[in-house]
Amino acid sequence: MHDVAIYWLRRDFRLADNPALTYACESARRVVLAYLHAPHEEAPWQPGAASRWWLHHSLTSLSKSLKPLGQAIVLRAVQEGDSSLDALRALIAETKATAIAWNRLYEPAFVARDQTIKSALRDDGLEAHSCNAALLFEPWQIQTQQAQPYKVFTPYWRTCAAQLETLPPPRPAPRAMPDALPLQSCSLNDLQLLPTLDWDAGFKSHWQPGEDGAHAALTKFIDHLCIDYPTARDLPATTGTSLLSPHLHFGEIGPRQIIATLRAQSEESRFIPGRDAFIRELGWREFANHVLFHYPQTTTQPFDTRFNDYPWEKNAAQLRAWQRGRTGIPIIDAGMRELWHTGYMHNRIRMLVASLLTKNLRMHWLEGAHWFWDTLVDADLANNTLGWQWTAGCGTDAAPYFRVFNPVVQGERFDAQGKYVRRWLPELAALPDKWIHQPANAPHAILEQAQVRIGVNYPEPIVDLKGSRDRALHGYQSLRARP
Ligand code: FAD
Repeated sequence: MHDVAIYWLRRDFRLADNPALTYACESARRVVLAYLHAPHEEAPWQPGAASRWWLHHSLTSLSKSLKPLGQAIVLRAVQEGDSSLDALRALIAETKATAIAWNRLYEPAFVARDQTIKSALRDDGLEAHSCNAALLFEPWQIQTQQAQPYKVFTPYWRTCAAQLETLPPPRPAPRAMPDALPLQSCSLNDLQLLPTLDWDAGFKSHWQPGEDGAHAALTKFIDHLCIDYPTARDLPATTGTSLLSPHLHFGEIGPRQIIATLRAQSEESRFIPGRDAFIRELGWREFANHVLFHYPQTTTQPFDTRFNDYPWEKNAAQLRAWQRGRTGIPIIDAGMRELWHTGYMHNRIRMLVASLLTKNLRMHWLEGAHWFWDTLVDADLANNTLGWQWTAGCGTDAAPYFRVFNPVVQGERFDAQGKYVRRWLPELAALPDKWIHQPANAPHAILEQAQVRIGVNYPEPIVDLKGSRDRALHGYQSLRARP
């Protein structure tokens, strides 16, 4: 038994099913919970503005849960030029800790840093222990028959699905914790995570960061949404998905807990038709981490190297119109405004806005990935990289090059009554359903009646969808000829 152990909290803001926390609590008489804020170590993917907002509230929520257990988070800001290793060594010297535990992260910057830290601390004589709290399976655990990483989702998931039964049950939150140590901590406000301008009002009304919020979202999904998930998940106007993505990203809930809860519901013989479809989506998250771990270069470089010198175009005005939701294509603009106001965008709309940017406008997928990174509350390097490269056609298991989504047709199919568009583009609200997805083509009298003035209170489309599709196909076809 150690006298003091440190639990190094990173992106695992929960008490239940937290193996590193459990390890620290079970192996020492006193435990220190430390969060080190070192965004410079995450470069070039330091948390964006929306992620920082979530982080602030997630830390607040966990601190509240720890209070009745007699514990508090020791916050330390690591300045540029200093490192988490230095901060940990200082903390170890202060506390005389002899053991440390953390839950693993899989982003390239963390993998490299954590390996260095683990061997340095072991060399210092500490017991350093890392665990898996974030994934169903470690990225290196799942392999092809040739002992290679998977590059295609379907066989990857088939292998995972066959092993789901072997997952250990999640552990409950500790009822009591070892004693805390009185230590200096900076205040949460010192980390300056919240915006200085008040742009987060929409976030506050949409989200409840923290472990309780994560479980509330899961309960709501199971009780009301799961049944229709296979069809409702494609309809952006309804809440047809779990909205668990930011909670999963910040480790407020783990995928093993989600699967165990879904299983427990079935054991009570509740019929949950959407269950397998939903678990398969969790599989995409696993696959994204598998790809990120084995191909870390993909955060900035195309997986498909034929795209290395693809002639992406630059157009600052069009990029800005896309970011601001001013493209003149309603389903795209609705998505980009939903993102700005809530920090979230529906999955189908993410695919549409990404396809428009990379295929019709031929802009580099990193332009879009960076914007998402700053604005999404669920910004996640594995999922974001996979999603952008998939849509651009340059990733593993990518969308076929000829799939250039037509946002008008997609809008008419998945938002037939234009509810989603009307919610985010009130200037188009009075248009009849027939024209809601293509106002620029509506007859003059209809526009006048709906008080829509194209080019005045709603923009002209910034791109000709058919002509730009043909150009994209031409560009992609020339790549196909390459080896
Ligand atoms: P649900 O449908 O309820 O799915 C449950 C969980 O499964 C999600 O929370 C998520 O963790 C996982 N999941 C679902 N779909 C995917 C997917 N396609 N890829 C990987 N995991 C998935 N997701 C992020 O979490 N962070 C991102 O930064 C991100 N960027 C994306 C960028 C693009 C261009 C695209 C096309 C998709 C991106 N996604 C990202 C994936 C997906 O859009 C979101 O995970 C999903 O919309 C989150 O909503 P939900 O929690 O209600 O999903």
